[in-house]
Amino acid sequence: MIIGAGGVASVAAHKVAQNPDVFTEVMIASRTREKCVRLVHSIEQAYAGKPMPTFSTAKVDADNVEELVALLREFQPEIVMNLALPYQDLTIMEACLQAGVNYLDTANYEPRDEAHFEYSWQWAFKDRFEQAGLTAILGCGFDPGVSGIYTAYAAKHHFDEIQYLDIVDCNAGNHHKAFATNFNPEINIREITQKGLYYEDGEWRETEPLEIHQPLTYPNIGPRESYLLHHEELESLVKNYPTIRRARFWMTFGQQYLTYLDVIQNLGMSRIDEIEYEAPLADGTGKNVKVKIVPLQFLKAVLPNPQDLGENYDGETSIGCRIRGLKDGKERTYYVYNNCSHEAAYKETGMQGVSYTTGVPAMIGAMMFLKGIWKKPGVWNVEEFDPDPFMEQLNVQGLPWHEEFDGDLEL
Ligand code: NDP
Repeated sequence: MIIGAGGVASVAAHKVAQNPDVFTEVMIASRTREKCVRLVHSIEQAYAGKPMPTFSTAKVDADNVEELVALLREFQPEIVMNLALPYQDLTIMEACLQAGVNYLDTANYEPRDEAHFEYSWQWAFKDRFEQAGLTAILGCGFDPGVSGIYTAYAAKHHFDEIQYLDIVDCNAGNHHKAFATNFNPEINIREITQKGLYYEDGEWRETEPLEIHQPLTYPNIGPRESYLLHHEELESLVKNYPTIRRARFWMTFGQQYLTYLDVIQNLGMSRIDEIEYEAPLADGTGKNVKVKIVPLQFLKAVLPNPQDLGENYDGETSIGCRIRGLKDGKERTYYVYNNCSHEAAYKETGMQGVSYTTGVPAMIGAMMFLKGIWKKPGVWNVEEFDPDPFMEQLNVQGLPWHEEFDGDLEL
């Protein structure tokens, strides 16, 4: 069962449809059922005449555990792919436990009223999933997701000790809009306007938002200004690879994007607290009513929908891990990355590259589970599973990776 029918869910649904030997019956359930129906319709058109899973749709409020449990008991899926929003992680995990269903997501839990993410809330489910014999796979998109799998692959094959890890995320695409975000605007703006955080010598170090930046050179793209952000996979990676001395996450932003972001913040439109707003009643009486709105949620409603960016999006993304450490007593560097073309992603799935690079790994994670390769009771981050079969599927499913040894990491 796929929960959510946005950009990432659309890509995952297409990829599921392309793998009917693994996925046979699929339900797409989301808040707005029409979106699920439209998605299924577009898939049925895209793969007409080819073997395909059977698709069904349902309306569900994923904030409501009871509603979720009822739907899960009715459909009885083997695994839920949670591709709704980070706010729903805990309710969906709770419902999975009550209904005896396995779980996968692509982003860690975030409370609505605080722009703060960490794994503790979801790791707290570990014993219950273990006792129930159920598997929960956390953070199985690209970053988090492939970034952790790249690190696990590096640790397994190329290093005795990983000491420095830099995850580098470049979007060199152009959607030809003045300002738009590549995934859910509310989640995206919350992430970028937070303080930065990185790990060094056993401690977490905080920075002002976007305070640390430097140009980094991305393959096939060239130099791009890259900004240090806090990103959730750092939390699990430094725990699972205790030899890491420093772990950081970098993301590129264009100057125009940053200028708009600055204005949005200065106007108060990135606020996540409720404000009172006087709105006209819809009954035509001309009377007003006081309503509470969250400025950032209002902004989301007027910004371009990330799902509609695909059509004129050109350029590519480049996301990878730059790693320094020891192998056979010698220092070595390693860079593993994928470049993904927005145009090619759109041609295949109707969505741009950022949704594509998230939806494909989500499908592969579910595939790993259904094939019995990534099946172990408990709550796990992706790097705690065998990376090899996943890496193999990345090459098959549209996200091929490349390696560079002993080059200049710039970091
Ligand atoms: P979208 O906003 O496009 O889609 C979210 C979907 O979830 C929408 O269909 C929405 O319904 C649905 N939804 C929201 N609230 C509920 C609810 N209460 N009950 C049921 N359905 C609900 O987001 P994206 O597809 O861009 O992102 C999906 C997830 O992927 C997010 O968690 C995001 O953080 C994560 N992500 C992860 C990345 C990674 O690399 N790991 C990168 C990019 C995104 P409706 O259509 O009615 O609004």
